[in-house]
Amino acid sequence: AEVLRLEGIRKSYNVGTPVETEVLHGIDLSIQSGDFLALMGPSGSGKSTLLNIIGLLDRPTAGRLVIDGHDTGELGDAALTKLRGQTIGFVFQYHYLISAFTALENVMMPMLVDRGHPDDEMQARAAALIDRVGLSRWANNSASNMSGGQQQRVAIARALAMNPNLVLADEPTGNLDTHSAEAVFALMREINRERGTTFLMVTHNPGLAERCDRIIEVVDGKVA
Ligand code: ADP
Ligand code: ADP
Repeated sequence: AEVLRLEGIRKSYNVGTPVETEVLHGIDLSIQSGDFLALMGPSGSGKSTLLNIIGLLDRPTAGRLVIDGHDTGELGDAALTKLRGQTIGFVFQYHYLISAFTALENVMMPMLVDRGHPDDEMQARAAALIDRVGLSRWANNSASNMSGGQQQRVAIARALAMNPNLVLADEPTGNLDTHSAEAVFALMREINRERGTTFLMVTHNPGLAERCDRIIEVVDGKVA
């Protein structure tokens, strides 16, 4: 099944001003459920802009974006926020964990934000995810006391908290040494195979990209 379809997606910044610039020039893309994809391209080519649009953090200037069968152009901001929370998980280069919270509490955050989840359910789901990313012994450590690789594994567990169909990862290994990068990549690949979660990962690492199902290359605001 198709989780994501982009048709003629364009994005301009500073619309209506003298410095209006179009940075995405008509992107067409179809992503199937269970795909594990690398998004590559030179700095400034539009990868982050594209990821923000797919992640429903920003709206395109033109074109159609369908996620999980929802035509997002027809949704208001509240509906978009709801769809984002229920279908998309995010992992960033810098993990953005709450440093004073424990690993377990960080993984509970998306469920707290979504509201209405009983406390014992949140605890149990977070504990299972912490276990899955190999950090049960560190569950009650504060995020600030963990290594970069451990923090990124907590961020992956957090991205999975709402059981998303799609995980968007913006250079998830860009800030890690080779060994930790390999471990974080392998973990995402395993989760993709176990759960069928779709991954779209921005990377500058050709060695990791060639181990993905497909490489999507963005050059000058177009898919090459
Ligand atoms: P932006 O914030 O504009 O997306 P990038 O994160 O794409 O910028 O890249 C910043 C710079 O760091 C670029 O010159 C990019 O080529 C380089 N870079 C980032 N990650 C890697 C990596 N893993 N290997 C080599 N170069 C990298
Ligand atoms: P990448 O992630 O591939 O490095 P970006 O999507 O960050 O590329 O940037 C694509 C182009 O859009 C760049 O020329 C960048 O300067 C420009 N850009 C990104 N964000 C903004 C913004 N908020 N306002 C204006 N220009 C932006």
